[in-house]
Parts: sequence; structure tokens; C-alpha cells
Amino acid sequence: MSLGEFDLIDRYFRREARSDSVVHGVGDDGAVLRPSAGLELVAAVDSLVDGVHFPSNTDPNDVGWRVAAVNLSDMAAMGAVPRWATLALTLPNVDEDWLGEFSNGLLEALDHSGTALVGGDTTRGDQLVITLQVLGEVATGKALTRSGARPGDSVFVSGFPGDAAAGLRRLQGGADADDALVRRFCRPTPRLALGQRLAPIASAAIDVSDGLYADLARLAQASGVGAVLDVTELPLSEALLDAFPDSAASLALSGGDDYELCFTVPPDHLEAVQSLAGELEIRLTRIGEIDSGNDIRCLNAGEDEIQGFDHFRELR
Ligand code: ADP
Ligand code: MG
Repeated sequence: MSLGEFDLIDRYFRREARSDSVVHGVGDDGAVLRPSAGLELVAAVDSLVDGVHFPSNTDPNDVGWRVAAVNLSDMAAMGAVPRWATLALTLPNVDEDWLGEFSNGLLEALDHSGTALVGGDTTRGDQLVITLQVLGEVATGKALTRSGARPGDSVFVSGFPGDAAAGLRRLQGGADADDALVRRFCRPTPRLALGQRLAPIASAAIDVSDGLYADLARLAQASGVGAVLDVTELPLSEALLDAFPDSAASLALSGGDDYELCFTVPPDHLEAVQSLAGELEIRLTRIGEIDSGNDIRCLNAGEDEIQGFDHFRELR
């Protein structure tokens, strides 16, 4: 490596700790953190493998943003406030242009959410692998889990599911990086404020990484319930309908990578959800209802959508 490991870390990943929750950050054998009294810690980790989780020619700034966003999205789904992150990087070579852009994208997303990068590990290996761990905090006993949904609860989704999958398709078809749908794939928005505000309102939540249908099925399974989804209620963005008029609903149900939140709400909290949508200026759409079944049934599904979620059933 032309650049020594320590110089590399100094140049691209060391930041002055801005929060008194970081007693010792990058540079020692371990980071020393000061959790807030009375809160519980929430931990999540995700790896992105070059060529598996993102196309090899993805803009490194977007790769950095994305590795932060997928972890921050897990914090959002738990209703947690992200505080600290550690980064494990395996690099096939030291490409300073790549590192510079990657760390800008990563630190931009972390800074934006008030998360401090406090340590990591840097190794050389055959394939580029990026692993980020995020630690967050939540009030004791108040974490939002997958397992609290009950029959009669309404099922909601934030934003416009299907946009990211449509963006990936357009990217593969040669679309520009500034295409609106491509942006939804490359730079997903973790719904942190929403998750934190939902914690006292929602009965269960999951972030949509593998597709709305698949992730709702996980939530239902964890809760021991079923659900009915009305395909005609799916919020479809104009961009999605313009780009893929025939498969828009299918992409919304089965496409992944949206990092929106799918959550369930007991009847007496429905009004709180409506006012939250206005306050946060996020589209929150009721798409179905939890019942006592043991699977997800889709009302008003066309042939295309049925094929989409049958494909998911086969994968399970
Ligand atoms: P050790 O051998 O004690 O694990 P390292 O040489 O791996 O120490 O790392 C030196 C310091 O740099 C540590 O504080 C570590 O947390 C930090 N560090 C290493 N790699 C990264 C990285 N990619 N991003 C942020 N911090 C890193
Ligand atoms: Mg180390």
C-alpha cells in the first residue's frame, strides 16, 4: 500500500469528536463512549460487498452514503437515535480518489444524523467489503420491534415503495445518476425522525429493504399474525407510474432497497399517524390491516403483482 494504514485512517476517517458522548474516538485501541443515563443501547451492523450489494461502478460517494443509510434505517425501524458508528473496511488496493469520495459520502450521512464515527478496522483483501456498525439509544422499554402487531391494527408504509427498485432498473438500463428514481436507489433516506416519533404510537415496525411484501411478511411472522393488503391502496409515485406503467404496483410490492418504514398502528392511534404525516411532511399511507391469519393476502392483485410475490414465496 502506498499510503500507510495510519495515514489513511487519519486522512479519511478521523474527525474531531463533536459530542461529549465520545470520550475517546479514532486513534486508541478502543473507543470510549458515554451513553445517556437511563437509555437502552440498540446495535445494528450491515455489510456491503462490491458487486453483490451495489454495482462495481457505483459512485463511491453513493456507496459511502448507502452503507450509512442502510444501518441508520435499522435504527429508524427500532425508533432509536443513532449515536456512534464503527467501520470495517477490506480494500483490494488503496485508491485515494475512491477513498476520498467514499468517506465524504459516509461522513455526510453520519453527520446528517448526528452519528460519530469512533473507530474501525482497515485490512487488505481480494474483494471490497464495507461493514458498518451503528449504536443508538432508545428510552428503556420503548424500542419499536417487529413483534407487536395485533389483529385489527392498520398497516402503513412511508414514502413511495418501488421507486428504488425502479431506479436500479433504470440504472442498469443506462439512466443518468441524477434521474429521480436512480437517486432513490443510490441515496435512500433513512426515516429516523419518523421512527423516533412512531415508537410510542406504532405497535410494530420494519424497514423495507427486501420489498414491502417480503418485509411485511417478516413483521407478521414475528408478531404471529397475518395481514390483508389492498394493492389499489399502494402509494405509487408519478415517477414510477411514468417509467413503469405496467409494473408499478408489482415493483412497489416486491422491489427492494426503499428503506421506507412499514409499520402497524392500533385503532386508537390512527389520528396521531395522520398528524405525524403532516408534521414531518412524509407520505404515510394505510395499505392494509393485520388479522389473525398466518400469511399476507393481497386484495385486487393483478397477474403481474401475483407473479412478483409468488417469486418471493419461492425464494423463502
Ligand atoms: P488496533 O490494531 O489496535 O485494532 P488499528 O491499527 O486497527 O488498531 O486502528 C487504529 C485506530 O484507527 C483505532 O482507533 C481504530 O478504531 C481506528 N480505525 C482503523 N480503521 C478505521 C476505519 N476504517 N475507520 C475509522 N477508524 C478506523
Ligand atoms: Mg485493528
